[in-house]
Amino acid sequence: MPKIKDAEDLLAKLVGFDTTSAKSNLALIGFVQNYLDGHGIASTLVTSADGEKASLYATIGEGGGGIGLSGHSDCVPVEGQTWTSDPFTLTKRDGKLYGRGTCDMKGFIACVLASVGTFKTRTLKEPIHIIISYDEEVGCAGVRPLIARIGDDLPRPRAVIVGEPTSMRVIDAHKRIDVYRTKVTGKEAHSSLPGLGVNAISVAAALIGEIDRLAETSAASENDPRFEPPYSTMSVGVIEGGTAANIVPQHCTFRWQVRSLPDTTLDAPRELGAFAETLLPKMRDVAKDAAIETESQTSVPAFIAAPQSDAVALALALTGANRTSAVSYATEAGLFEQAGCPAVICGPGDIAQAHAADEFVSIAQIEACLNFLEDLADRLSR
Ligand SMILES: [Zn+2]
Repeated sequence: MPKIKDAEDLLAKLVGFDTTSAKSNLALIGFVQNYLDGHGIASTLVTSADGEKASLYATIGEGGGGIGLSGHSDCVPVEGQTWTSDPFTLTKRDGKLYGRGTCDMKGFIACVLASVGTFKTRTLKEPIHIIISYDEEVGCAGVRPLIARIGDDLPRPRAVIVGEPTSMRVIDAHKRIDVYRTKVTGKEAHSSLPGLGVNAISVAAALIGEIDRLAETSAASENDPRFEPPYSTMSVGVIEGGTAANIVPQHCTFRWQVRSLPDTTLDAPRELGAFAETLLPKMRDVAKDAAIETESQTSVPAFIAAPQSDAVALALALTGANRTSAVSYATEAGLFEQAGCPAVICGPGDIAQAHAADEFVSIAQIEACLNFLEDLADRLSR
């Protein structure tokens, strides 16, 4: 199949663009736009407010409805990881294609682009929409302004396939993610007289203990066996505070994350707020400006496909699978579903390799995805 070679070449190009979320993705988007242009397909770009990034929406074929094929162009940083080969040079070893983003999720985008010729030669009953976003890895930020234009100046697909790495399994549910930042303001004092100060780090430690207690409560009380683990989880990821060992610290900030089951009743920030109320009187006895503030930084909705979802039925038919699964990582699927575009997650590569050093996608997975897209073209052909 020559298409596998095309997909590899396209993947090599895509991996060559360092589209770590903090950087611009315009070079990659420009490449894709040119490639589509070469096939006579126009694209619409939805540019970020600072003009540094863009999402792309392109339609092949005519008519309403159609199937959206959605992928994100950004990837996670390589800093601090030890790679066997250059992360931004596609390297083939033992039937695997190594490089940052090969699995999550430039592999899928390469397969979609390699299939454009096939899509073009068919007489499609309904269109195929190619959707490429940015900033997925930082809270699905980039796809939101694009989704806001669907049904306005961008066509509304009747189903969207989000090609995140699922090893080509059909995923119809995922957890919700919320990221919070909690800021403790205490009072500085000489460490020889700690009673004159309010130790912000100690207060933060108490709050973190409460987060761990809440996490234990959900582990003990929730059980949805579709998910691994089968309960909502919480963890603190970053903490900063203090200046010297001999100063009672005035400030401490920590960032924490909640990954909730779609139907959880847990409200972690409210619970933490209630616990904070029990700490504040004692803090304010010493410093009237003492404060504990929690703000939401990002939130990605849970995804649950609607019963009898067109998107899920389509992905099951294309993969030949007879069952769906759920995952604990979040994707753009929940945002599409919320916006009235039935979604499903199915793409090449194993999530275990995503974000890791020596990230790879196997050639077998790329082949499976190309077959899936070929079957999609068949199904949509007159
Ligand atoms: Zn991803």
